[in-house]
Amino acid sequence: MLDTLRRIIQEVNTAPDLDHALDIIVRRVRESVAVDVATVYLLDTEQQQYVLSATEGLRKDAIGNVRIDLDEGLVGVVGRREEPLNLEDAPLHPRYHFISETGEAPYHGFLGVPIIQYGNVLGVLVVRQRDKRKFAEEEEAFLVTLAAQLAGAITHAGASGRIFAVVSPERMTASLIGLPGSPGVAIGRVMVVYPPANLEAIPDRLVDDVDSEIAEFTEAVKAVQDDLRAYANRMSAVLPAQELALFDALLLMLDGDSLVGETIERIRQGNWAPGALRETIAQHVKVFDAMADSYLRERASDIRDLGRRILTHMQSDRPVTPVAYQKTVLVGEDISAGQLAEIPQENLAGIVSASGSSSSHVAILAQAMGIPAVMGVSDLPVGRLEGQKIIADGYRGDVYVNPSALVLEEFARLQSEESQLSEMLRHVAGEDSVTPDGVTVPLYLNVGLVSGVETEAQAEGDGVGLYRTEIPFLMQEHFPGEEEQLRIYRKALEAFAPRPVTLRTLDVGGDKMLPYFPVHEDNPFLGWRGIRISLDHPEIFLTQIRAMLRASVGLDNLTIMLPMISTVSELDHAILLIYQALDELLEEGEAVVRPPIGMMIEVPSAVYQIDAMAKRVDFFSIGTNDLTQYLLAVDRNNARVASLYESLHPAVLRAIRQVLDEAHKLGKPVSVCGEMAGDPASVLALLGLGVDSLSMNASNFSRVKWVIRSFSRDEARELLEQVWLLEDPGAIRELYNGVLEQGGLGGLVRAGN
Ligand code: PEP
Ligand code: MG
Repeated sequence: MLDTLRRIIQEVNTAPDLDHALDIIVRRVRESVAVDVATVYLLDTEQQQYVLSATEGLRKDAIGNVRIDLDEGLVGVVGRREEPLNLEDAPLHPRYHFISETGEAPYHGFLGVPIIQYGNVLGVLVVRQRDKRKFAEEEEAFLVTLAAQLAGAITHAGASGRIFAVVSPERMTASLIGLPGSPGVAIGRVMVVYPPANLEAIPDRLVDDVDSEIAEFTEAVKAVQDDLRAYANRMSAVLPAQELALFDALLLMLDGDSLVGETIERIRQGNWAPGALRETIAQHVKVFDAMADSYLRERASDIRDLGRRILTHMQSDRPVTPVAYQKTVLVGEDISAGQLAEIPQENLAGIVSASGSSSSHVAILAQAMGIPAVMGVSDLPVGRLEGQKIIADGYRGDVYVNPSALVLEEFARLQSEESQLSEMLRHVAGEDSVTPDGVTVPLYLNVGLVSGVETEAQAEGDGVGLYRTEIPFLMQEHFPGEEEQLRIYRKALEAFAPRPVTLRTLDVGGDKMLPYFPVHEDNPFLGWRGIRISLDHPEIFLTQIRAMLRASVGLDNLTIMLPMISTVSELDHAILLIYQALDELLEEGEAVVRPPIGMMIEVPSAVYQIDAMAKRVDFFSIGTNDLTQYLLAVDRNNARVASLYESLHPAVLRAIRQVLDEAHKLGKPVSVCGEMAGDPASVLALLGLGVDSLSMNASNFSRVKWVIRSFSRDEARELLEQVWLLEDPGAIRELYNGVLEQGGLGGLVRAGN
C-alpha cells in the first residue's frame, strides 16, 4: 500500500497542471481500491460550492458542470464534518442525494474523505460502488493518507485562483502560505530564478525561435557525449571493463530517440530547451523510480546526472539575459543576493522564495530596499510559475498565483491605501517620538548593514538598537579578521555618532548558518547558537570584541549586547572575556573605554532570572522573535505553524511585564528589539507595559512614531487592563486593531505579526 501511495504521489507531483493531476488521482484510486467510481470535488470558495473536478466512472462532461452546495448530499457532510464517511448502503443515509446529471446509476457503497490543507478543506475525494460495500478499515486509511498528501500536491499543481478564489478580505484563503519576509504588497508577473545546474529548479519558458533552441540543445548533448568518452578513456586504466560499461550505457541513452528525441519534440511544442529537458528527464526518472527492481531504480540517478550535464553545458553557453517584466516578482527555491541585483531596480516589484525566513540574507536586502518579500513558501511550484500573475503579501506571508479579478482588486486597493499611508506618515518626519501625555519613547533602528546612503529613518533614529553582526559575517567566505571587522563596525559607529550603536555579538546557529562554518543539528534552534558558539570559540569572540572596542575609539558611542543568554554563567564568562579584550587593548596603548554591556532576553529562563542578570548588565533588550518562539514552542520559520506564532499571546505579554517590572525595580532600562517593536498593534501594548525604548527595521519607523504620537501612555495602560482579561491571542490583536482603526489608523493594522 505504501508503494502504491508513493507512486501515486510521485505521478501527481510531475503532472503538468491541476487537471492532469486530478485525472491521475481518480484513475489510480479507482484501480487501487477496485471501485466503480472515483471522483474529486474541489471547493470553489467564491461560489461556496463543491465542483466536480475529476472523475473516473461518471460521465466526463459532468466535470466542471456539476456543483454541490456546501450542505448538500454526502459530499457536503464529509466537507462540513471534516472526517471520512464510510457507508455500506448510502441511500439509507438521511442526507443521501442522487444527482442524475453525472450519468450515475444509483450506488450503494460510499466512502468520502476530505482533502484538507493547513486546516482548510480544499475538496472531497469520493469512491462509490454500485453494490452494497462496506469499505475496509485499511481502504479508508489508504484514502485518508492519500488525501492528506494530495492536499499539498493539489496546491502545487493548481496554484491558481480557481480553487482558492476569495469572497471578501476577511474570508481570504491564501493559495500558498509562507512567512512575512519584508513588508508591503507586490503585484506583478513571475520571473523564476534558479541556481545553475539544478534541473528541478528550471522553469517552463515559452520560446519563438525553436530552431536555435534545438541547435543549442543538440550541441550540449554532443558536448556531453564527448565528455563521457573522455572520462571512459581516462578511467579505463583504473576500472574493470564491467564498470566501464556504465559509460557505454550512458552514451547509449544519449544516442537513442528517447531522451534526445523527446526533448526536441517538447521544444517544438514551444518550451525552451532547459524546460523541455527538465520535463523529459522527470518523465524518465519517474519510470525508473517506479520499478520494483532496485538495480533498475538506481538508473534514475544516472538519468538525472545526464540531465544535469546537458544543462550545465547549455547554461555555460547561454548568456544570462533576464527577462524583466515591468513589474517583476522574483520567484525561486532559494534566491541569492546576486540574482536580486540582476533585475533593474525599477522593475523589481517583489520576491517570493520557497526557502528562508525574514532573517535570510535576501529578505534583509529586500527590507533595506523597501521591496515586499514572502519567504519559506514550502509548497511553491516554482517550475510552473514563469510569467504568471502573482500577488505577494509581505505583511502576512501569503502568495496568490493567478488571482481572480476580485482578489486583484482587493490588493490593488490595499496598495493604494499603502501609498496614501506613506503620504500620511511623511507628516511625522522631523517630529519627536513623544506621546500626547509627554512620554518620550526613543526609537532605535535594527540594522544588518550600514550603507553610505543616509535614509530618513537613519537621520531621525535615536541610534542603533540592534546591529546584527552576523550579517556582515554571512557575506564573507571566511570569518572576517579583526581589521576587517574594525572597518565594518567603525562605519556603523561613525554613521550614527554621537548616537549610541548597539553591536550584538555574533548570533549564528539556528536558521542563520555561515556557509564556511556549517553546523548540522536535529534541533538547531535548541542547539549550538548565539553566545553558546561564541563562548566555545573564545578566539572568534575575542577578535570580535577587540574590533568593536577599537572601532569606538574617539567616538565612544559603542554598546555591546549579548544574544541568547540562558544562564548567569554564560553572562559571567562573556563579560570576563570582554574585560580581557579591554585589558589587552589598554596594554597595547589603545584609547578604548568600557562600553555599556547589555543582554537580550529571548530565552524563557532569562525572564525568570532578571534579578540575577540585572546585577551583571547595564540594560536589557527583549528579543521577542525568539522569546515568542521559545515560549510558545512554535518555530518562527515554519509556515505550517505560522498561525500559532503570535507575539500578542497573553503568555508573551505576561513575560514582558515580568521583565519590565523586575528590571525597573533594579533600575535597569528595557528595550524591545524583536519584530514586535515595529508592529503598530504591539507597540500599543508595549507602550502600556512601560517599555523604555523600541528598536525596529527602518521600514516600520514612521508607523511606530505615528502610533507613539497618537496614543498617550495612560490610554495604552487602560487598554492593557482590558487585554489582561482576554485569553486568546486573536482577541488581543483584534482589540488593538480596532483601537488603531478608531484612531483613524486603519491602514496600519495590516502590519500584523
Ligand atoms: C529576536 O530574537 O527577537 C531578535 C531581535 O533577534 P533575531 O531576530 O536576530 O534572532
Ligand atoms: Mg533572537
